[in-house]
Amino acid sequence: MGPELLLGLGSLVSGKGVAVASLKVGRRCLLPLEVNLADHRQPFLAPLRALLLFDIDGVIRDVGRSYRLALAETVAHFSGWRPTPETIDALKAEGRWNNDWDASLELLRRRRSRQPNLELPSRDAVVEVFSGFYFGRDADGAVSRQPQHWTGLIRQEPLLVDEAFFAALSGSGIGWGFVSGAEPPSAHHVLEDRLGLPRPPLVAMGDAPDKPDPTGLLQLAEKLAAAACVPLAHLPMGYVGDTVADVLTVIHARRQQPRLRCKALAVAPPHVAAAAKVRAAYNQRLLAAGADAVIGATAELRPERVFQLLLEE
Ligand SMILES: [Mg+2]
Repeated sequence: MGPELLLGLGSLVSGKGVAVASLKVGRRCLLPLEVNLADHRQPFLAPLRALLLFDIDGVIRDVGRSYRLALAETVAHFSGWRPTPETIDALKAEGRWNNDWDASLELLRRRRSRQPNLELPSRDAVVEVFSGFYFGRDADGAVSRQPQHWTGLIRQEPLLVDEAFFAALSGSGIGWGFVSGAEPPSAHHVLEDRLGLPRPPLVAMGDAPDKPDPTGLLQLAEKLAAAACVPLAHLPMGYVGDTVADVLTVIHARRQQPRLRCKALAVAPPHVAAAAKVRAAYNQRLLAAGADAVIGATAELRPERVFQLLLEE
């Protein structure tokens, strides 16, 4: 087998002219390289030193007025009762309701203790109504499928980091990717169209079992480590998430792979972070679930802080 050039992690920030490649001959990885495409004369070595994977909702974008509102509106559509943000947080704290369609249905199911005559909709009906709120509807009433036609709540999602944030990680040898329960069109939209990350490494809804199953996290981590020809067990790694399910995903991953050096880095989502008392209680729940550290905001994860968090005992 002849030499093979593998495009790797940093090609993710090729918008800024930085690429990572590895020279592979047969099964041997000879030369992990980071190349600044803007200046071909000065390639420099920057081997992969760590991995940082991110949840998207509440971590990369604020969904307090999109997904969470769609959840509340969907429940209200079927029951006339609109759950408060605290009710939704309490459900999410159980660690099993990462999927917002299932969370909507579960809140309706529980509501029947107060509204015995409430008829439960099918899951398909929940998905249809939810999607109408989230993406918006075309003139014929169908859920909009094209980003340029989206008029729904997806249009009100402030970003919590920017493209430079990821360029800084890559520049320090920190590979990154995303493991999210968001629907693929929504995840691609925020990462590619809004953040400007071409072909981001992503595990989204349907690519792997829902969190807290660790399959998606482990698969993406393995893939990124293999692209840089570094055994995953040699890499300090973190997963940044905002819910108990995210923390449990890491705990389950370590249980499956005891040599995995993965930490659960938790961050309170913006809708929680605003109120000090609520935030303290929320953070306490994340720590109680097993988070290794709670950080104030995703944007605090500059490379120095990442190494500090991942390497401290
Ligand atoms: Mg989240």
